[in-house]
Amino acid sequence: RKRDPILTVRHVTRRFGGINAVDVDFLEIPRHKITALIGPNGAGKTTLFNLLTGFDQPNSGEWTFDGHPLAGVASYKVARLGMVRTFQLTKVMGKLTVLENMRLGAADQPGERLSAALFKNLWGRREKEITAQAEVLLEKFKLDAKRNDYAASLSGGQRKLLEMARALMARPKLVMLDEPMAGVNPALTQSLLDHIKNLKAEGMTVLFVEHDMQVVRHIADWVVVMAEGKVVAEGPPADVMKDQAVIDAYLGAH
Ligand code: ATP
Repeated sequence: RKRDPILTVRHVTRRFGGINAVDVDFLEIPRHKITALIGPNGAGKTTLFNLLTGFDQPNSGEWTFDGHPLAGVASYKVARLGMVRTFQLTKVMGKLTVLENMRLGAADQPGERLSAALFKNLWGRREKEITAQAEVLLEKFKLDAKRNDYAASLSGGQRKLLEMARALMARPKLVMLDEPMAGVNPALTQSLLDHIKNLKAEGMTVLFVEHDMQVVRHIADWVVVMAEGKVVAEGPPADVMKDQAVIDAYLGAH
């Protein structure tokens, strides 16, 4: 049922002091599907995202994305290979414009080393193409009118949209979203959900962390449940939400 996974995780562990924040024995993420990663606070969901995308290093383990072994690979190289992520608290750069933030998403250098002044030199002839791609995405995400505004002027929900749009600049195969709905004004919730569904319609694979079970039921094809660093259950949303272990580990805690 899960042949051809886009991502396969084996024996990945991450300890903080005495805590096993992540202790995942085996996990496969199905290609071309929307998978929700759920679990109580502190279950290790964000830590797992950080490990898989090269923003943190595991104590042990390996994982393969689309045929590439990724342990030890730097985050910007992970993005270049087609696996991108967003953050629970967005990492949109407030002192850059919306358009400049978008161009950062196409950079093949670590973001921290870039400044707006460097753009021209770094990209040379590619700049036109990158800007054109950014314009198309900004229009799709209804941020085109804000292209020259500082990102700091955006609302929380607009920052989430910008971060998602920026992630797409890398032309990813797998998009990992950490609590995309958190802190989003209800007026933008439906639009965010539609964007997530569109990613799948456009052939991408989505893995997202979410606390709202209504959202999970509505858009996820597959659900993975984590508790205390481990994967405790997985399956289609309707099955997982009937599972007693899940209710104990997660739903019961809310
Ligand atoms: P939430 O739903 O609240 O975002 P989560 O499932 O994403 O939670 P993590 O943030 O990954 O969980 O945290 C897993 C465990 O690791 C928690 O016990 C947390 O306190 C611990 N932890 C995470 N990052 C660090 C860190 N940098 N230093 C120490 N402990 C950490």
